[in-house]
Amino acid sequence: MLLIALQHYPYVSGDDYSGGIYHLHGSSDLPIRKKLIINAALSGNFSSKDSNPNVPYTPEEIASDARKCYALGASFFHIHVREDDGAPSCRKERFEETLSKIRKHCPKALLCATTSGRVHKTFEQRSAVLEIEGDGKPDFASLSLGSMNFPTEASINQPAMIERLAKKMAEKGIRPELEVFETGMINYAVYLSKKGHLTGPLYLNMFFGLLGTMPGRMADLVHQASSIPGGWVWGAAGGGRFQLPVNTASILMGGHVRVGLEDNLFYDYDKQVPATNPMLIERIVRIAKELGRPIATPEEAREMLGVSAIK
Ligand code: ZN
Repeated sequence: MLLIALQHYPYVSGDDYSGGIYHLHGSSDLPIRKKLIINAALSGNFSSKDSNPNVPYTPEEIASDARKCYALGASFFHIHVREDDGAPSCRKERFEETLSKIRKHCPKALLCATTSGRVHKTFEQRSAVLEIEGDGKPDFASLSLGSMNFPTEASINQPAMIERLAKKMAEKGIRPELEVFETGMINYAVYLSKKGHLTGPLYLNMFFGLLGTMPGRMADLVHQASSIPGGWVWGAAGGGRFQLPVNTASILMGGHVRVGLEDNLFYDYDKQVPATNPMLIERIVRIAKELGRPIATPEEAREMLGVSAIK
């Protein structure tokens, strides 16, 4: 009996028969060995100092948080800008000032500006940031791929608006950060890609766990990740208490993460400890390292996302 077992499982010391498909390819192909891109979403439009005084509003506050997060391992920054009183802004000058300041502190980081339509709804407002040239020009801009409800308002992205923003980004040499809130939006990205409006390598961020978005269950992440075309780079974000489990599951699956106060204001599930952006980044770096996932440097993130030139 033992002989038969040995014939079927000829274990040689050092071989790894730990399961799944991995032993067919070797440990270097484990999803967990891929470099992890940390996308820091520092402020958003709606996170408020009333709920957590650590939310950055001004260009100085946002750039200061970016500098700390960059030192900890963030290589990509998803940026909204705010007026001094915290009101969401889409002013080109405000973006330019904020992005230039971040670029000064984080010279190799990938900078992504929002074109969200939740507050500023016209094409001119949403695309103002795409007109920036020079140091404040973003490498990426967010591109939401459909309409949906957030807890208190709708986010409307008509097909014509999505296409117009995608075309403008292509014209300006700004890459889209594809924002996905349910599986149909992945399909829409494939459609746009086939129409030639998106060129790769494509980077897609999936959002889970807010009322109106995909729920933040592991099954939802697995399903959605399996719908993404091969070769696309993807990451996952979770709202509120779903940030930590969704980020961790994405790390295990070989995806990347978006983390920060835009999506989650508290460090703990009981909402007793207000988070800071550096605290959230530090925890993700620690978890990734414990799980054996190395953190991508800004240069490595640039290579993975096909954006070699630093603006
Ligand atoms: Zn955002």
